[in-house]
This record gives sequence, C-alpha cells and structure tokens, in this order.
Amino acid sequence: MISRRSLLLGLAGAGAAAAAAGVASRRGGRAARLPDPFGPLVALTPRFPAGFGVRRVFVDPGHGAAGNPGNSSCFCREEQDFTLAAARALGEHLRATGAFDVRLARENAGPVAYQARVEDAEAWGAEVFLSLHSDVRGQTGEKWNPAPGRECVVNLAAPGFSVLWSDEGEPKLAEARHALARAVARRMRDVGFWAYGGVEYGDLYAVDPEQAGVFVDRHAPAQRIFVLRRPKMPSVLVETHHALDPREAKLWDEPQTLAAFASAVAAALVDVLGS
Ligand SMILES: [Zn+2]
Repeated sequence: MISRRSLLLGLAGAGAAAAAAGVASRRGGRAARLPDPFGPLVALTPRFPAGFGVRRVFVDPGHGAAGNPGNSSCFCREEQDFTLAAARALGEHLRATGAFDVRLARENAGPVAYQARVEDAEAWGAEVFLSLHSDVRGQTGEKWNPAPGRECVVNLAAPGFSVLWSDEGEPKLAEARHALARAVARRMRDVGFWAYGGVEYGDLYAVDPEQAGVFVDRHAPAQRIFVLRRPKMPSVLVETHHALDPREAKLWDEPQTLAAFASAVAAALVDVLGS
C-alpha cells in the first residue's frame, strides 16, 4: 500500500517545478478538479484455484525496436527504458507466485523486432501476450525543467491507465482478447489505479461500454497495433499511465506501484485462465 501522504510529499518537487514552468497557472484549476488517481494502491492477494498449474505469460516491454524508443516522459525518460523496468518487475512478481512462468520479449535495451517477439511468444507456448507501455495523450503540453538544464514536456490533463485490444481476426480470439482486456482493467481499478477516460483518443480508440479503462483499436487497418492483432494467443496492450504527468511518472517508479500492478495482472490472469 502506498499512502496518499507519501505521494503528496514525493510530488511536491514536481508540482513546484510545474508551477515555475507555468503549468499550474494555466492548468492548475483543471488539475485540482480531477479525481485523485494516485492512491492509495492496495495490492490484491492472489488466489489460485485448484489445478491452476503454472501458466505461461509472455511480457513485452514496449518499444526497444530499431528506431522506436517510444515516447519521452515528463522527466525525459525514454519509454523503452520504463517498459523494460516495468516488465522485469512484473515478471519477478508473477514468477514469485509460483503460478506463472514468464518470458520477456527483450531482456535488455534491444533492439528486438516486433515480428520476432510474436514468433518467440508462439514458439514458447505463451498463453497470453501482455505488452507494456506508457502513453502520451493530446496535442498539448508545457515545457518544464524537472532537473537543471533538462527541458521536458509536462501535461496534467489526461492521467490514468488504458488497456487496448483489437477485434480483428478470428472471433473467438477477439473475444478472448476482449475478456483479457476487461479483466486487466477491472483488476487495476480494484487495486486503486485510475482509468483514463479517452477524450484525447478521439476516433483512434473506442471506449468499452461496460468496463472503464478498456479501448478497442479503431486505427485505419494498415495502422493498427501489430502486437494486438498478430499473436495467436490473446494479447492486450497496457498503457500503464500518462508519461507526461509527473504525478503518475513518479508513482510508476515506485516498487510498491509495480507490485500492486503485478497483483492486478495475476488476479486478471486467474479470472481469464482459471475457469
Ligand atoms: Zn508505447
């Protein structure tokens, strides 16, 4: 569990810097009305049904492909570095339950091509494919200096996680992706993570009518997300947080946050694989 108090303390520096960069004066009123997305987070205790066995989970640290480092966060951290750290933590926590065997799509900076990741997952016999990312939402952002001499972009307007899936292809597989997406989002909310509402996505993703935080890919077919439509096992993409929001970026650096997230993923996997 992460207390609200420690988060507020931890974020004081970011808030002051954002204010100095003009963010608070222009956006402070709007940010102040946002529901609190940042805690407390309470990890779930995994309960594995009899006969659950050891299930194979393929975790894809997003980006780390040639020429594709992903976004640059409000602390100027490359997305490919964040996703690798998050995937390693998720893998460790899932393995520690004894109920999951985990393989990462890349163990280091890479590069590893997306096609190779999908083939690797299939050859290994993965039962699910989870791609981890952080998101950048909307066209706007303000420059700020999170450290002396470092200029990054900050945006407090669109926090929260989203879970993306694709309805392309064979209906049974699409249905399984949808069930996985809903389970992951539901369990992330159970833990205390805030679900993104989707305004900045426009027509590119459609919000799920029943489960907050879930979105189906509506890009033009040629631009749809590879790891959502190619794997033969159910796959989803988790945008863990808004990379331009310092409150969330700091939160996702905390080991307790990654532990809480892993507990949500474990519970979601029991939901979809355990019945
Ligand atoms: Zn990404």
